[in-house]
Amino acid sequence: MTERNFQRHRRLRKTAGLRNMVRETYLHKEDLIYPIFVAEGENIKNEVASMPGVFQFSLDHLGAEVDEVVELGIPAVILFGLPLEKDAIGTQAFHDHGIVQEGIRFIKNRHPELVVIADTCLCEYTDHGHCGVVNEKEQILNDPSLDLLAKTAISQAQAGADIIAPSNMMDGFVTVIRQGLDAAGFSDVPIMSYAVKYASAYYGPFRDAADGAPKFGDRKTYQMDYANRMEAIREATSDIEEGADFLIVKPALSYLDIIRDVRNNFDVPIVAYNVSGEYAMVKAAAINGWIDEKQIVLETLTGMKRAGADIILTYHAKDVARWLEEK
Ligand SMILES: [Zn+2]
Repeated sequence: MTERNFQRHRRLRKTAGLRNMVRETYLHKEDLIYPIFVAEGENIKNEVASMPGVFQFSLDHLGAEVDEVVELGIPAVILFGLPLEKDAIGTQAFHDHGIVQEGIRFIKNRHPELVVIADTCLCEYTDHGHCGVVNEKEQILNDPSLDLLAKTAISQAQAGADIIAPSNMMDGFVTVIRQGLDAAGFSDVPIMSYAVKYASAYYGPFRDAADGAPKFGDRKTYQMDYANRMEAIREATSDIEEGADFLIVKPALSYLDIIRDVRNNFDVPIVAYNVSGEYAMVKAAAINGWIDEKQIVLETLTGMKRAGADIILTYHAKDVARWLEEK
């Protein structure tokens, strides 16, 4: 008998009980943020064609949706708006009775304990579909966009938003929003910054959902190049210096290395945005019977937590909350 000298890693995988004891990463429903699309108008409950199971809701249909979210134990929602009217500067983004402001009031009135996050951008409200102000040369202007963003954030805080989540990738947006919120008496409202946001084809289905595709050009002059890793640290560093309370990395699935880099460099809560294209791919394969949706989603989201995310913003949130109860 020859002496065998090697590690027996399989000892810790022998039974489900042992595997559970040594499991390093857990997904909890408390980790989840559920995105909701609120549409101006009445009697709207439209399923987004490229995102089965995700709907646009007018306020008269929103109640049942948020009741379900609360019943499932999901602690937070993020709101995106679909206004009836758009213009060059996105006036409806910062209107006191804009659709997101009304949506925030509706939800906070119905479920005061539910954390309501306001996505703060202009692209859903501008007729050109860009996230900032555009000049005659079709350039997206940085500083003139900042003032409108700050106005948007303040109006969302006034409506009752618990967290402001600026997503437009103009330089300095956290500074200007922080100053605006503080001056308006909202120094206690945190900023969840889309600090690390890549120009990505994975946003395609969202543009159906929020009707926000740019009418010309693309977003590559303000969103990041997907080939870049060090740039993520520069973006996150400046947002932290400007006062961000959370850092979002978006998208998530193809950017797990970036989530880990940000985790290793910053001690604020990290949010992974599991975006529309990631959701649509899973749904399409699941509907065709090609994958086990539940197992794929739980594995994917656990992978995002393992990469370093504390919180996951995901269209799968309601399903995940149900599945976690089943286990
Ligand atoms: Zn935008």
